[in-house]
Amino acid sequence: MFYYLSCALIFVSAYVLNMTYMSVFFHRAFAHKGLILKPWLRQFVIHTGNWVTGLDLKGWVCMHRMHHQHVDSEKDPHSPVNDGVFGVFLSQHYSFQRILRGLIGNRRTFNSVVEDLNFPVSWLNRRRYWLLPLGLHFLIGAGISYFSGGILIGACYWMGIASHPIQGWLVNSLGHYAGYRNFDTKDHSTNNTMVGLLVLGEGYHNNHHHQPQSVKFSHRWFEFDLGYLICRILRAIGWAEFRKDLATENHIVLGAVDDSLGSVLSRLSPENANLDSTLDLVLPQKRKEEEVI
Ligand SMILES: [Zn+2]
Ligand SMILES: [Zn+2]
Repeated sequence: MFYYLSCALIFVSAYVLNMTYMSVFFHRAFAHKGLILKPWLRQFVIHTGNWVTGLDLKGWVCMHRMHHQHVDSEKDPHSPVNDGVFGVFLSQHYSFQRILRGLIGNRRTFNSVVEDLNFPVSWLNRRRYWLLPLGLHFLIGAGISYFSGGILIGACYWMGIASHPIQGWLVNSLGHYAGYRNFDTKDHSTNNTMVGLLVLGEGYHNNHHHQPQSVKFSHRWFEFDLGYLICRILRAIGWAEFRKDLATENHIVLGAVDDSLGSVLSRLSPENANLDSTLDLVLPQKRKEEEVI
Protein backbone atom coordinates (compact mmCIF):
# COMPACT_ATOMS: atom_id res chain seq x y z
CA MET A 1 0.00 0.00 0.00
CA PHE A 2 2.82 2.39 0.94
CA TYR A 3 4.43 1.68 -2.42
CA TYR A 4 1.31 2.65 -4.38
CA LEU A 5 0.86 5.79 -2.29
CA SER A 6 4.48 6.67 -3.08
CA CYS A 7 3.78 6.11 -6.78
CA ALA A 8 0.80 8.48 -6.62
CA LEU A 9 2.85 11.08 -4.73
CA ILE A 10 5.68 10.90 -7.27
CA PHE A 11 3.24 11.26 -10.17
CA VAL A 12 1.43 14.25 -8.66
CA SER A 13 4.72 15.95 -7.69
CA ALA A 14 6.19 15.55 -11.18
CA TYR A 15 2.89 16.59 -12.78
CA VAL A 16 2.57 19.75 -10.67
CA LEU A 17 6.24 20.64 -11.24
CA ASN A 18 5.77 20.33 -14.99
CA MET A 19 2.52 22.28 -14.95
CA THR A 20 3.99 24.99 -12.74
CA TYR A 21 6.59 25.59 -15.41
CA MET A 22 4.00 25.53 -18.20
CA SER A 23 1.12 27.43 -16.66
CA VAL A 24 2.78 29.71 -14.12
CA PHE A 25 6.16 30.44 -15.71
CA PHE A 26 5.81 29.93 -19.47
CA HIS A 27 2.23 31.14 -19.75
CA ARG A 28 1.39 33.67 -17.02
CA ALA A 29 4.91 35.09 -16.56
CA PHE A 30 6.66 34.97 -19.96
CA ALA A 31 3.84 34.91 -22.53
CA HIS A 32 1.51 37.46 -20.90
CA LYS A 33 3.65 39.10 -18.22
CA GLY A 34 0.85 38.99 -15.68
CA LEU A 35 3.31 37.54 -13.20
CA ILE A 36 6.62 39.38 -12.86
CA LEU A 37 9.37 37.07 -11.66
CA LYS A 38 12.31 38.30 -9.65
CA PRO A 39 15.39 38.48 -11.90
CA TRP A 40 17.10 35.43 -10.39
CA LEU A 41 13.96 33.31 -10.82
CA ARG A 42 13.48 34.59 -14.36
CA GLN A 43 17.04 33.51 -15.25
CA PHE A 44 16.51 30.18 -13.51
CA VAL A 45 13.41 29.46 -15.61
CA ILE A 46 15.17 30.55 -18.83
CA HIS A 47 17.99 28.09 -18.17
CA THR A 48 15.95 25.18 -16.81
CA GLY A 49 12.65 25.50 -18.72
CA ASN A 50 13.60 23.33 -21.66
CA TRP A 51 15.16 20.67 -19.45
CA VAL A 52 12.16 20.40 -17.14
CA THR A 53 9.38 20.57 -19.73
CA GLY A 54 11.04 19.34 -22.90
CA LEU A 55 9.71 22.46 -24.63
CA ASP A 56 11.66 25.51 -25.72
CA LEU A 57 10.51 28.56 -23.74
CA LYS A 58 10.86 31.09 -26.55
CA GLY A 59 9.23 28.79 -29.10
CA TRP A 60 6.33 28.06 -26.77
CA VAL A 61 5.73 31.74 -25.98
CA CYS A 62 5.84 32.58 -29.70
CA MET A 63 3.28 29.90 -30.56
CA HIS A 64 1.00 30.90 -27.71
CA ARG A 65 1.08 34.61 -28.56
CA MET A 66 0.30 33.71 -32.19
CA HIS A 67 -2.67 31.71 -30.91
CA HIS A 68 -4.03 34.80 -29.14
CA GLN A 69 -3.22 37.00 -32.12
CA HIS A 70 -4.98 34.79 -34.68
CA VAL A 71 -7.37 32.90 -32.42
CA ASP A 72 -9.63 30.45 -34.30
CA SER A 73 -8.68 31.93 -37.67
CA GLU A 74 -6.76 30.17 -40.43
CA LYS A 75 -3.49 31.47 -38.97
CA ASP A 76 -4.13 30.02 -35.51
CA PRO A 77 -1.32 27.50 -34.80
CA HIS A 78 -3.81 25.18 -33.10
CA SER A 79 -7.57 25.40 -33.20
CA PRO A 80 -10.28 22.74 -33.27
CA VAL A 81 -12.10 25.01 -35.73
CA ASN A 82 -9.39 24.26 -38.30
CA ASP A 83 -8.04 20.90 -37.19
CA GLY A 84 -10.85 19.19 -35.28
CA VAL A 85 -10.72 18.26 -31.61
CA PHE A 86 -8.33 15.33 -32.07
CA GLY A 87 -6.40 16.96 -34.90
CA VAL A 88 -5.18 19.63 -32.48
CA PHE A 89 -2.92 17.01 -30.88
CA LEU A 90 -0.87 16.93 -34.07
CA SER A 91 -1.30 20.53 -35.22
CA GLN A 92 0.10 21.89 -31.94
CA HIS A 93 3.18 19.70 -32.44
CA TYR A 94 3.75 20.58 -36.10
CA SER A 95 3.10 24.29 -35.48
CA PHE A 96 5.62 24.26 -32.64
CA GLN A 97 8.27 22.68 -34.88
CA ARG A 98 7.53 25.17 -37.69
CA ILE A 99 7.76 28.13 -35.32
CA LEU A 100 11.01 26.85 -33.82
CA ARG A 101 12.53 26.55 -37.30
CA GLY A 102 11.35 30.07 -38.05
CA LEU A 103 12.91 31.47 -34.89
CA ILE A 104 16.19 29.64 -35.45
CA GLY A 105 16.19 30.90 -39.05
CA ASN A 106 15.62 34.48 -37.83
CA ARG A 107 12.37 34.86 -39.76
CA ARG A 108 10.80 38.22 -39.03
CA THR A 109 7.27 36.75 -38.88
CA PHE A 110 8.17 34.84 -35.74
CA ASN A 111 10.96 36.94 -34.21
CA SER A 112 8.74 40.01 -34.13
CA VAL A 113 6.30 38.20 -31.85
CA VAL A 114 8.93 37.58 -29.15
CA GLU A 115 11.28 40.54 -29.56
CA ASP A 116 10.94 41.38 -25.88
CA LEU A 117 12.48 38.04 -24.90
CA ASN A 118 16.19 38.77 -24.94
CA PHE A 119 17.38 35.18 -24.93
CA PRO A 120 17.78 32.75 -27.82
CA VAL A 121 16.09 29.48 -28.62
CA SER A 122 17.67 26.85 -26.38
CA TRP A 123 20.84 25.23 -27.71
CA LEU A 124 19.02 21.92 -27.33
CA ASN A 125 16.77 22.92 -30.20
CA ARG A 126 19.34 24.88 -32.17
CA ARG A 127 21.46 21.71 -32.29
CA ARG A 128 18.46 19.38 -32.64
CA TYR A 129 19.02 17.66 -29.30
CA TRP A 130 15.38 18.15 -28.40
CA LEU A 131 15.02 14.55 -27.16
CA LEU A 132 17.75 15.00 -24.53
CA PRO A 133 15.43 16.33 -21.78
CA LEU A 134 13.08 13.40 -22.27
CA GLY A 135 16.08 11.06 -22.12
CA LEU A 136 17.24 12.73 -18.91
CA HIS A 137 13.81 12.26 -17.32
CA PHE A 138 13.80 8.65 -18.48
CA LEU A 139 17.11 8.11 -16.69
CA ILE A 140 15.81 9.82 -13.53
CA GLY A 141 12.72 7.59 -13.64
CA ALA A 142 14.92 4.52 -14.15
CA GLY A 143 17.06 5.60 -11.20
CA ILE A 144 14.02 6.01 -8.98
CA SER A 145 12.83 2.55 -10.01
CA TYR A 146 16.24 1.00 -9.40
CA PHE A 147 16.63 2.38 -5.89
CA SER A 148 13.00 1.79 -4.88
CA GLY A 149 12.78 -1.70 -6.31
CA GLY A 150 9.80 -1.25 -8.64
CA ILE A 151 9.21 -0.15 -12.23
CA LEU A 152 5.86 1.52 -11.58
CA ILE A 153 7.22 4.36 -9.45
CA GLY A 154 9.73 5.38 -12.12
CA ALA A 155 7.02 5.19 -14.78
CA CYS A 156 4.83 7.46 -12.63
CA TYR A 157 7.63 10.04 -12.49
CA TRP A 158 8.08 9.96 -16.26
CA MET A 159 4.34 10.15 -17.00
CA GLY A 160 3.99 13.13 -14.66
CA ILE A 161 6.94 15.13 -15.91
CA ALA A 162 6.32 14.40 -19.62
CA SER A 163 2.57 14.96 -19.58
CA HIS A 164 2.52 18.32 -21.36
CA PRO A 165 1.36 17.04 -24.79
CA ILE A 166 -1.82 15.74 -23.15
CA GLN A 167 -2.29 18.87 -21.04
CA GLY A 168 -1.69 21.09 -24.07
CA TRP A 169 -4.15 19.11 -26.15
CA LEU A 170 -6.84 19.29 -23.43
CA VAL A 171 -6.57 23.08 -23.22
CA ASN A 172 -6.05 23.81 -26.91
CA SER A 173 -8.88 21.55 -28.08
CA LEU A 174 -11.55 21.37 -25.37
CA GLY A 175 -10.81 24.98 -24.35
CA HIS A 176 -12.17 26.01 -27.75
CA TYR A 177 -14.83 23.34 -28.12
CA ALA A 178 -16.64 22.16 -24.98
CA GLY A 179 -17.83 24.05 -21.92
CA TYR A 180 -19.55 27.24 -20.86
CA ARG A 181 -18.74 30.87 -21.49
CA ASN A 182 -18.62 33.70 -18.98
CA PHE A 183 -17.66 36.30 -21.57
CA ASP A 184 -18.82 36.96 -25.11
CA THR A 185 -15.38 36.94 -26.70
CA LYS A 186 -15.00 36.93 -30.49
CA ASP A 187 -13.45 33.47 -30.50
CA HIS A 188 -14.78 30.02 -29.62
CA SER A 189 -13.08 29.82 -26.23
CA THR A 190 -14.88 27.98 -23.44
CA ASN A 191 -14.45 27.26 -19.76
CA ASN A 192 -14.14 23.54 -19.16
CA THR A 193 -14.34 22.54 -15.50
CA MET A 194 -12.61 19.17 -15.96
CA VAL A 195 -9.68 20.75 -17.81
CA GLY A 196 -9.59 23.60 -15.30
CA LEU A 197 -9.12 21.17 -12.42
CA LEU A 198 -6.68 18.90 -14.25
CA VAL A 199 -4.48 21.59 -15.78
CA LEU A 200 -3.94 24.14 -12.98
CA GLY A 201 -6.74 26.49 -14.00
CA GLU A 202 -5.83 26.58 -17.70
CA GLY A 203 -9.22 25.13 -18.58
CA TYR A 204 -10.93 28.43 -17.73
CA HIS A 205 -9.96 29.40 -21.20
CA ASN A 206 -12.84 31.74 -22.03
CA ASN A 207 -11.94 33.78 -18.94
CA HIS A 208 -8.34 33.81 -20.11
CA HIS A 209 -9.14 34.96 -23.65
CA HIS A 210 -11.32 37.68 -22.16
CA GLN A 211 -8.41 39.08 -20.15
CA PRO A 212 -5.11 37.45 -21.19
CA GLN A 213 -2.91 39.67 -19.05
CA SER A 214 -4.63 38.66 -15.82
CA VAL A 215 -2.62 36.30 -13.64
CA LYS A 216 -5.90 34.85 -12.39
CA PHE A 217 -7.83 32.58 -14.75
CA SER A 218 -10.82 31.81 -12.51
CA HIS A 219 -13.77 34.18 -12.36
CA ARG A 220 -16.81 32.57 -10.72
CA TRP A 221 -16.91 31.19 -7.18
CA PHE A 222 -16.84 27.53 -8.23
CA GLU A 223 -13.85 27.88 -10.55
CA PHE A 224 -10.67 26.70 -8.84
CA ASP A 225 -7.40 27.95 -10.29
CA LEU A 226 -4.51 26.09 -8.68
CA GLY A 227 -2.02 27.93 -10.87
CA TYR A 228 -3.19 31.23 -9.38
CA LEU A 229 -2.71 29.80 -5.90
CA ILE A 230 0.89 28.97 -6.81
CA CYS A 231 1.31 32.53 -8.11
CA ARG A 232 0.05 33.87 -4.78
CA ILE A 233 2.51 31.67 -2.90
CA LEU A 234 5.35 32.97 -5.10
CA ARG A 235 4.25 36.51 -4.32
CA ALA A 236 3.93 35.77 -0.59
CA ILE A 237 7.50 34.48 -0.36
CA GLY A 238 8.82 37.40 -2.39
CA TRP A 239 9.78 35.51 -5.55
CA ALA A 240 7.35 37.31 -7.87
CA GLU A 241 4.86 40.17 -8.09
CA PHE A 242 1.59 40.64 -9.93
CA ARG A 243 0.95 43.19 -12.58
CA LYS A 244 -2.56 44.45 -12.30
CA ASP A 245 -4.42 45.89 -15.26
CA LEU A 246 -7.99 46.94 -14.85
CA ALA A 247 -10.99 47.73 -16.92
CA THR A 248 -10.83 46.64 -20.51
CA GLU A 249 -12.21 44.03 -22.85
CA ASN A 250 -10.15 45.14 -25.82
CA HIS A 251 -6.75 43.64 -26.39
CA ILE A 252 -5.47 45.39 -29.47
CA VAL A 253 -2.36 47.17 -30.62
CA LEU A 254 -0.95 49.76 -28.25
CA GLY A 255 0.46 52.89 -29.72
CA ALA A 256 3.17 53.23 -27.13
CA VAL A 257 4.64 51.46 -24.18
CA ASP A 258 3.39 52.72 -20.88
CA ASP A 259 6.12 54.53 -18.97
CA SER A 260 4.92 53.56 -15.55
CA LEU A 261 4.80 49.88 -16.44
CA GLY A 262 8.25 50.13 -17.99
CA SER A 263 9.69 51.66 -14.85
CA VAL A 264 8.07 49.07 -12.63
CA LEU A 265 9.36 46.20 -14.75
CA SER A 266 12.83 47.69 -15.02
CA ARG A 267 13.01 47.94 -11.24
CA LEU A 268 12.29 44.27 -10.98
CA SER A 269 14.43 43.19 -13.90
CA PRO A 270 16.55 45.36 -16.23
CA GLU A 271 15.79 42.93 -19.07
CA ASN A 272 12.10 43.61 -18.75
CA ALA A 273 12.66 47.30 -19.42
CA ASN A 274 13.10 46.50 -23.12
CA LEU A 275 9.41 46.57 -23.82
CA ASP A 276 8.30 46.98 -27.38
CA SER A 277 5.44 46.33 -29.71
CA THR A 278 5.29 42.67 -28.79
CA LEU A 279 3.44 43.78 -25.70
CA ASP A 280 0.54 44.42 -28.06
CA LEU A 281 -0.26 40.79 -27.38
CA VAL A 282 -0.30 41.05 -23.65
CA LEU A 283 -1.53 44.50 -22.75
CA PRO A 284 -5.03 45.96 -23.00
CA GLN A 285 -5.95 48.98 -25.10
CA LYS A 286 -6.91 51.17 -22.18
CA ARG A 287 -5.80 51.17 -18.61
CA LYS A 288 -7.67 52.97 -15.91
CA GLU A 289 -5.18 51.81 -13.37
CA GLU A 290 -1.95 49.92 -13.45
CA GLU A 291 0.06 48.94 -10.48
CA VAL A 292 2.14 46.25 -8.97
CA ILE A 293 0.48 44.83 -5.93
ZN1 LIG B 1 -7.16 29.71 -26.72
ZN1 LIG C 1 -2.59 32.87 -23.02
